[in-house]
Amino acid sequence: MVKAVVGANWGDEGKGKITDMLAKEADIVVRFQGGANAGHTIVNNYGKFALHSLPSGVFNENTTSIIGNGVALNIPVLFHEIQSIVEQGVPMPDIKISDRAQIVMSYHIKFDEYEEERLAGKSFGSTKSGIAPFYSDKFAKIGFQVSELFEEEEALMEKAENICQKKNVDLEYLYHKPLLNPADIVKELKEYKEMIAPYVCDVSLLLWNALKEGKEILLEGQLGSLKDPDHGIYPMVTSSSTLAAYGAVGAGIPPYEIKKIITVCKAYSSAVGAGAFVSEIFGEEADELRRRGGDGGEYGATTGRPRRMGWFDCVASKYGCRIQGTTDVAFTVLDVLGYLEEIPVCVAYDIDGEITTEFPTTSLLEKAKPVIEVLPGWNCDIRGIKKYEDLPENCRKYIEFVEEKIGFPITMVSNGPGREDIIYR
Ligand code: GDP
Repeated sequence: MVKAVVGANWGDEGKGKITDMLAKEADIVVRFQGGANAGHTIVNNYGKFALHSLPSGVFNENTTSIIGNGVALNIPVLFHEIQSIVEQGVPMPDIKISDRAQIVMSYHIKFDEYEEERLAGKSFGSTKSGIAPFYSDKFAKIGFQVSELFEEEEALMEKAENICQKKNVDLEYLYHKPLLNPADIVKELKEYKEMIAPYVCDVSLLLWNALKEGKEILLEGQLGSLKDPDHGIYPMVTSSSTLAAYGAVGAGIPPYEIKKIITVCKAYSSAVGAGAFVSEIFGEEADELRRRGGDGGEYGATTGRPRRMGWFDCVASKYGCRIQGTTDVAFTVLDVLGYLEEIPVCVAYDIDGEITTEFPTTSLLEKAKPVIEVLPGWNCDIRGIKKYEDLPENCRKYIEFVEEKIGFPITMVSNGPGREDIIYR
């Protein structure tokens, strides 16, 4: 059976923890999109880890960790991560990399930086991991697939020359930066080949066979619905699809095999980067939530940037869950709200005087004002509680209120960063 773990919102919903938990029961965990631009924070018996590239199953000895074809593969980052977890005592994971994954080149990262510099104040808030230039090249058909690393040098050189011809126009006239040369590109590719050769395989075939054998496969999404290039808050989105449906493409499995879609939804909102964020809060109210949020504050796992904070947004979350095709909602970081006497929730948007609970396209979203309803808080620490009935009444009411507004079943409630901090309903 295939399950997918994905985000309902802007990312940082706590997918890493839920994936880590579900990975215990999975034979295979697959990353199917995105790159090293986002990160999961995982707390387990080995310690606390920020993973950017590796699938969250790497901590389980019996789990195979797969980098699917849909991923933006940053080989040095991946290697650094493998090294660092092994140094911290985690047994060497079983890693497989799709021969159809494409490679993030050092020039993609440079182009990302140059473009941010050019856009200056109008930038998208890129993490400068090369993701947008990478995916642009993939679809412009000038990317390098892992399989190509094993081609003759001559073929690579020819391709590198073509790339330089195109890229150097921008480097010279648009960015005024040093030019690329084909020999450097080929050298970089050779280094990458050495690093990943032992892990490369035909991932879609491996997964096909695993499915026939009845293996449990977990697809691990990055970011969330609202960062999807089609269904998110374009153009303030990421460059690969963040939806469970894309799991079929980005891993290479039949779409009908995805039976469970676990959408992770945080009990309040946070976002990084630019873009409309209707339920956003500011000042001391935001600072306090940011300080208390997540596990040690709401700061980007990759960049360390302070996240923008807001109250739970029922409109965005209902949409985020719908567009994922949610079967189960995992409602996370609920314990953090324990300090509040009262909890504001955004229940609708007011767009030019019209009240709606349907998430609009970006131009309308920018005009949306939150319609807030205030629920009573529970004002105590709920960490350590194992049974739903043992949660304070106001806490259960908050969960049930949100469930009713979003219209998808909350089957898991996370009340702490650890694997065991989970309440099943
Ligand atoms: P991801 O990208 O969706 O995996 O999210 P992040 O890793 O950026 O954010 C989740 C943060 O919240 C991490 O620091 C987790 O350890 C932490 N976390 C996850 N679930 C919970 C929870 O239920 N309670 C608390 N307090 N922290 C949590």
